[in-house]
Amino acid sequence: MDSCYYKDFPALGAFEGELGYTSNPLAYLDNAATTHKPSIVLQTVEGYYRECNANPYRGTYRTSVASTQLYEGSRSIVAHFIGADADEIVFTRNATESLNLVAYSYALDTLAPGDEIVLPISEHHSNLVVWQHVCEKTGAKLVYMRPDENGRLRDEEIEQKITGAAKIVACAHVSNVLGSVFPIEKIVEKAHSVGAVVVLDCAQSAAHLPLDLSALDVDFAAFSGHKLYAPMGIGVLFAKRELLGQMKPFLFGGEMIDEVREYRSTFENGPKRFEAGTPNVAGALGLATAIDYVQRIGFDEIGRVERQLATHLLDGMRAIDSVRIIGNPYATLDRTGVVAFTVDGAHPQDIALVLDGENIAIRTGSHCAQPLHRSLGLESSCRVSPCFYNTTAEIDRFLDTIESVRRTISRRIMAVFP
Ligand code: PMP
Repeated sequence: MDSCYYKDFPALGAFEGELGYTSNPLAYLDNAATTHKPSIVLQTVEGYYRECNANPYRGTYRTSVASTQLYEGSRSIVAHFIGADADEIVFTRNATESLNLVAYSYALDTLAPGDEIVLPISEHHSNLVVWQHVCEKTGAKLVYMRPDENGRLRDEEIEQKITGAAKIVACAHVSNVLGSVFPIEKIVEKAHSVGAVVVLDCAQSAAHLPLDLSALDVDFAAFSGHKLYAPMGIGVLFAKRELLGQMKPFLFGGEMIDEVREYRSTFENGPKRFEAGTPNVAGALGLATAIDYVQRIGFDEIGRVERQLATHLLDGMRAIDSVRIIGNPYATLDRTGVVAFTVDGAHPQDIALVLDGENIAIRTGSHCAQPLHRSLGLESSCRVSPCFYNTTAEIDRFLDTIESVRRTISRRIMAVFP
């Protein structure tokens, strides 16, 4: 039986008439790019601006104090959600900014020629280009781990690539192309055994898997609110307290200072040192509300629904001739429902356009993972990424449309080569 969580999301329920779906409703299957927002998040953000809207920390009047409390309360909720303490959570704009913060405030001051930054070739550009920049500035070198044909990072690859020269291991928890859940415990164990820190990109995992960063023992972790049912423009960096304490500020200005003299200043300790300027209070509050929403449903339930959808999707895709799934074609515990694919004889852009004609939203392009695509001999692919508010009926519409694309292509081929 399908769940009906989509009813919590006004952008998805908007097409539903009294008798159910009346026309060709939006099948939103691009959740790896961004998720929709439940009503409770929209109401909270609007309510904040209607009823509070004051600059936090700066005023002594009651709405300013309330704003400070809401912002700091959100920090505590985020911390609890990922198994961290509030003084280890920095609010940023998104995962990209969080990763840049690690690069600028930690890596640039720490790395030297001969050091290595190790990462999977499948990383999103946000967790790859920034390390190229660090290498250019410090003389360190990038070393790539290569997932196997099933999208898995094998133990031997981890053992061979993470050597004594490694100072940083940067890795996605879940790949945004392969859907693989990488073996983070193994990576952390190996990285720490050679004295490297681990930067975990949780952009694709925070909404789908329970995260316990203290159990995983990663040193840094990043994610974006907008892929977790929260507004765009709010992100999170987790950094272990002792590492955060060593890091120099990245942006300078109001609220990150301790004391400012004419020619030099001292800075706040803790997360505020990295949050210069007026923060995104409504975004933080929206994120805390989205987390509360997710926790009320629970990851057991979210996992159950998403596994069911992934199984249905992958079973259906495997059954269509000429569909090539990138990575593991089976729904196993070490893969999520993010599925990149190509269809023989059709350009990914054309497939996405045909799907859009049916009001089915998927992603096409390199998904910000050009090195991975190039290593697979591809320029681009399609990517379908359901989440718990999707239904098997939507997956069926997607599969039916792909099947009709396949039939059209084989008719054309038959016409040319009868
Ligand atoms: N890492 C991964 C694995 C992602 O999928 C994404 C977003 N596609 C990012 C990082 C960057 O997220 P954002 O654009 O929100 O900063």
